[in-house]
Amino acid sequence: MKKIIIVGGVAGGASAATRLRRLSEETEILIFERGAYISFANCGLPYYLSREIDSIDNLLLNTPEKLMQRFNLKIKVLSEVIEILPENKKIKIKNLQNNSIYEESYDELILSTGAYPFVPPIQGINSKGVFTVRTIDDIKNIDEWISANKSKKVCVAGGGFIGMETAEQLKKAGLKVSIIEAMNQILAPFDPEMAEYLHAEIKNKGIELILNDALGEIISDSEGKVQACITKSGKKIEADLVIMGIGVKPENKLAKDGNLEIGITGGIKVNEYLQTSNPNIWAVGDCIEVTDPVSGDPALIALGGPANKQGRIVADNIMQVDKKYKGTFGTFIIRTFALTAAATGLNEKMLQKKGITDYEIIYLHPNSHASYYPDAERLNMKVIFSKKTRKILGSQIVGGKGTDKRMDIISTAMQAGLDIDELAYLELCYSPQYGSAKDPINMVGMIAENILEGKFEQAQWKDLNPNSILLDVRSEAELQKGKINNNAQNIPLDNLRERLSELDKKTEYIVYCQSGQRSYNATRILTNNGFNAKNLSGAYLTWQIGNNSLNK
Ligand code: FAD
Repeated sequence: MKKIIIVGGVAGGASAATRLRRLSEETEILIFERGAYISFANCGLPYYLSREIDSIDNLLLNTPEKLMQRFNLKIKVLSEVIEILPENKKIKIKNLQNNSIYEESYDELILSTGAYPFVPPIQGINSKGVFTVRTIDDIKNIDEWISANKSKKVCVAGGGFIGMETAEQLKKAGLKVSIIEAMNQILAPFDPEMAEYLHAEIKNKGIELILNDALGEIISDSEGKVQACITKSGKKIEADLVIMGIGVKPENKLAKDGNLEIGITGGIKVNEYLQTSNPNIWAVGDCIEVTDPVSGDPALIALGGPANKQGRIVADNIMQVDKKYKGTFGTFIIRTFALTAAATGLNEKMLQKKGITDYEIIYLHPNSHASYYPDAERLNMKVIFSKKTRKILGSQIVGGKGTDKRMDIISTAMQAGLDIDELAYLELCYSPQYGSAKDPINMVGMIAENILEGKFEQAQWKDLNPNSILLDVRSEAELQKGKINNNAQNIPLDNLRERLSELDKKTEYIVYCQSGQRSYNATRILTNNGFNAKNLSGAYLTWQIGNNSLNK
């Protein structure tokens, strides 16, 4: 009987184990898990803090007993695998309850050891009241600390997704929240102007956001309890609780010590079958290096969806069903109070870092559903594509309801290799409560098609300069909402045809309205009449948020 050992019993590990069992009754399957729980909902952890998820039990998707009974798995919790002995096909395990060490042999070994929260060795880091968020025990400890110490002020170090979700939940739980972020923006998957919507939202909800500064020191009282955080620039923030959320690193020590190849990102190197440099050892989840399909470069992407799917693929491959893992686009979503933010693929910062310059950006601000039907919410979309290949390189959406479905469609289109202009003709479900006959996704395709067919040219908010000649086609009433520049000529769209004589055919006009749709129509009128006009992508709304982001 084949014996398969899995190290790590949460997302990737539990998924591999149950798939293995569904494929074979003739296999011995063992899971070793360092923690006390297996198969728990890491992604739900922060939501216990405000009791959006009102019981820890709801986070426990499975108990060892339930999994053992249903899937005939042998599960050892509080058991840390401390060494791999690949030449003997054995592992060494430490029983964390009695500290005994023993060995277990395997035919195939799967590593799903995850990623650990990086904690910098700053002064005061070991103070009482400093926590990371990874496990059920972490969240229980934070919750107990808040109750026992009647915590009122929390400092969250790091504006990544774990920090942001925890900050949101602690605010909802009634704490005063400060976030310290070393970059000029939170949430790295977004470009600064897209993150700016979220900056405004969290400040609006009363969270203090400190950008371009990092946590430098933690001060504690005579009992060793956290009192305050000091940033690298010397700013003091009073806090009786600190959450460290400055990023995660692949848990690769076992693999490294077992002489498995490690990639340049620090993740365990695997081939497309998720096999490590040792053919009997496989690896999945946050601990591996994946390929980013857009650039073909190696990447670290710590997300639950990919880990689960990799667990399934590895089980298939061990059971000789050849299945390739095609890479990770990093499709991602987060709620921040009233806004939802989602991203996939590469953003503009990443493209520039990789030296990829052949791209075009589309900004648009459509409604979540037909605007005539009540309660439509705005979606702020950025889509980046290659004019040469027509492929979508990445996208970001920050907005209201329907953000998730639009991002999932874009991500699916990227994975299916659709050309961006094919989005124009996708048949999507429509009823006014849910979408529009020309859905925001269709609009993306139509704008791209117009650009690719040379129907109009775009200008970008970043390219505007004091010499740009602007034509504002909004109504006079709208001008009160703000202008890009006082010198902008104003001719409302509906009067444009009769007022063309006021314009000069030798001048290049950059045309804008509020969101970009009327200015597109204006650009077409002008071009058809022999004028030189470019539409400002995303118009006033994008220019405004973009400019706010520059001042960070
Ligand atoms: P994990 O699920 O972390 O499991 C690894 C397990 O291995 C751990 O339990 C660890 O104890 C065990 N282990 C490690 N080394 C050993 C050893 N030597 N011996 C025995 N056991 C060992 N992803 C999303 O896509 N969406 C979200 O909304 C989201 N929210 C998140 C919120 C939080 C607070 C956290 C922490 C993560 C979130 N994630 C989210 C990320 C997601 O949970 C991970 O990507 C996913 O769990 C990775 O699965 P994994 O199997 O690689 O690692």
